[in-house]
Amino acid sequence: MSSPRRRSSGSQPSSPWRENRKNVAIVGGGLVGLLSAIYFSKRHFAIDVYEKRKDARNDKLISDRSINLALSSRGIEALRKVGLAKDVLDNAIPMKGRMIHDKSGKTNIQSYGMFGQVVYSIGRQKLHDILLEMVDSLPNVNLHFENEAREIDLDSSKIVLHDKDLNQLSDIYPDMVVGTDGAYSSVRRAIMKKEKMNFHQEYSNHGYKELTIPPTSTGQFAIKPNYLHIWPRNDFMIIALPNQDKSFTCTCFFKYELFEKLSDSLMISEFFKKEFPDLLKVIGKDRLINDFKSNPLGPLLTIKCHPYNHKDKAIILGDAAHCMVPFYGQGLNCGFEDVKTLFRLIEKYEDDYELAFNTFSRIRHKDAVAICDLSLENYTEMSSSVLSPFYKIERSIVNGLHWLFPTKIIPLYTMVSFSQISYHNVVKKNRTQKLLIRLGMVAITAGSTLALSSILLKRGFGKACVSTCMSIVSKCWDKK
Ligand SMILES: Cc1cc2nc3c(=O)[nH]c(=O)nc-3n(C[C@H](O)[C@H](O)[C@H](O)COP(=O)(O)OP(=O)(O)OC[C@H]3O[C@@H](n4cnc5c(N)ncnc54)[C@H](O)[C@@H]3O)c2cc1C
Repeated sequence: MSSPRRRSSGSQPSSPWRENRKNVAIVGGGLVGLLSAIYFSKRHFAIDVYEKRKDARNDKLISDRSINLALSSRGIEALRKVGLAKDVLDNAIPMKGRMIHDKSGKTNIQSYGMFGQVVYSIGRQKLHDILLEMVDSLPNVNLHFENEAREIDLDSSKIVLHDKDLNQLSDIYPDMVVGTDGAYSSVRRAIMKKEKMNFHQEYSNHGYKELTIPPTSTGQFAIKPNYLHIWPRNDFMIIALPNQDKSFTCTCFFKYELFEKLSDSLMISEFFKKEFPDLLKVIGKDRLINDFKSNPLGPLLTIKCHPYNHKDKAIILGDAAHCMVPFYGQGLNCGFEDVKTLFRLIEKYEDDYELAFNTFSRIRHKDAVAICDLSLENYTEMSSSVLSPFYKIERSIVNGLHWLFPTKIIPLYTMVSFSQISYHNVVKKNRTQKLLIRLGMVAITAGSTLALSSILLKRGFGKACVSTCMSIVSKCWDKK
């Protein structure tokens, strides 16, 4: 079959490359959808991507999501497999670590890795353009903008499309449907009707709003460019990632009640003066108030579901399959890794799609749950733990052990962002490491206490002194 059978309006551009190929309809031409199209194009398929928005190249407002993204090893590896990593990284800004800003404007740097690893800040639009350019060059892929999948029936393999430009409905009958249509996926809804899908959705009590730190009057970055900046304030925080045009995109993660409270100009400026004085200075009061009032407030949510497929007829990837809060910067990385993992299975099972899809659903679900949970937990780390002396001590111990035993003890952040270890194994390994380190610390503390006690006893101090030492040690542990 060369292209999806289409009834009603809309003719399908034909190409010799499409002849005798099975047709895949990719619903959702976001970042994961475009990467999926590139991977599918390497197999014997004719691919049609249906995207409800306009062509991003003609409409710069492609997304109500973040302007830039932190791209790390998993995402990069998936891009590398199709030869896109270099192009993407050439357009990205490396970030060596976190720069923490306290209320007085003092900063503190926490490197990401012991061995100079970096995370990259890339503009969402730029990444989209690079993927689109490649998709456009593929003879067996057709892109259909302003085409929204309105209904999907997996019994008859029918998708009802609404062409916004022509204001017309048409039916297509692809051989396979790939749902990369984001958190509110219609393909997921269609799979739900056919499979016993478990589904869990939870909104965070934090929302997000973006602000911009413009370049300085001399066209330079206003704060250090090669870091992910964090202003942690426990219940709320702001982060900032650098952009190629020397600006920064800041994301305010506040509870909804706080956003509601900050309703007028005076309240906004007083709040920023008290909590983020250095940020107020680099953004500028007028711009900050204006952006804070007019920029949209976005929700943050977690979605977990299972299974991800219906036989070899339909599968969901990216946010359609798992949506996570952005505190680990892994949503897209995980979505790109989905695509890479799926195609590793398709290769392994020699194009037995049902086996590959079923296996993907089974193994990937554990990983999605693990990274959704880690992302929720990382809010506490970013917004408050980074300020705690205990966190800093534990971090130094783990980093020190990692330096001594680089393959045996690996910090959690390193495993998530700089390795290809499956997310669920990251969680397991981290639990074991934590236990071993804490046991080690208990053993060292107990050993030193015993040694100290014996010295004190030898020098004639009584039991009272030893028990005081013990109670101090145990209080320290309780506090931890
Ligand atoms: C504030 C914020 C910051 C983030 N930061 C990071 C980060 O630093 N690093 C990271 O890895 N991830 C980050 N993420 C997560 C990341 O944005 C998502 O995981 C990623 O965009 C998911 O891509 P996707 O293609 O699966 O879905 P989407 O980006 O949601 O794309 C879905 C596409 O499908 C289209 N569509 C939807 N329904 C239909 C339909 N019925 N018919 C046709 N088309 C349809 C939509 O128009 C859209 O283009 C962040 C998220 C947020 C909210």
